[in-house]
Amino acid sequence: MLPKYNRVLLKLSGESLMGDRTFGIDPKMLEQYALDIKAITDIGVQVAIVIGGGNIYRGMNESETGIERAQGDYMGMLATVINGMALQASLEKVGVKTRLQSAIKMEQVAEPYIRRRAIRHLEKGRVVIFGAGTGNPYFTTDTAGSLRAIEINADVILKGTRVDGIYTADPEKDKTATKFTELSFSEVIGKGVKVMDMTAFTLCQENNLPIIVFDMNTTGNLLSVVSGNKVGTLVS
Ligand code: UDP
Repeated sequence: MLPKYNRVLLKLSGESLMGDRTFGIDPKMLEQYALDIKAITDIGVQVAIVIGGGNIYRGMNESETGIERAQGDYMGMLATVINGMALQASLEKVGVKTRLQSAIKMEQVAEPYIRRRAIRHLEKGRVVIFGAGTGNPYFTTDTAGSLRAIEINADVILKGTRVDGIYTADPEKDKTATKFTELSFSEVIGKGVKVMDMTAFTLCQENNLPIIVFDMNTTGNLLSVVSGNKVGTLVS
């Protein structure tokens, strides 16, 4: 089978790693993700991954944590490295070669982020996991995903979520919500639907990087998306 996309950036949320838990990492989710990712590398897709940290720490809420925003954001970035290391371990367990690159230097556990080196790894068939977000507070891992996707010339950003696309309203709260199969960037703005935060979304729009929002928690969906099947919602 020939994939539709040659190089993808997969954005995973930290929260999805929790599975049924309320905190941390569910080994079952890790294993499922590793196998799904392996399936697309097996058909020759070059895969880069940005993973969030919300299952461990989210820096944004100063009023709740009492920790200054920038400090909390750095803590959140470190959380994404923990998730990246976990994902790296689970991918290698199923025989996928990986490299973890961190936007915050921590050479004992990850390579520093070097764009050209990341591209070289991808060309050699290694999955590259980008940890520590953008390396800057006041950003999100969605923005890190858009930024890295553009930097490495990815064909598409695949945003794996718990819902199977973009809906008219939150389908977990509103039973009448319906799904869009395709939207243009300007339709997303016009309709006021939420895909990513504005910074992340604008980066994609300005650089013409398509986004596919899909349900990553259904096994086989990722393979289906990269094969070009109409899964989730395409924004382009
Ligand atoms: N973060 C940051 N800069 C970045 C990426 C992430 O400061 O470039 C911090 C921010 O505090 C964020 C936390 O890391 O809340 C975890 O990332 P995110 O909330 O995006 O994770 P997800 O929601 O995908 O689990």
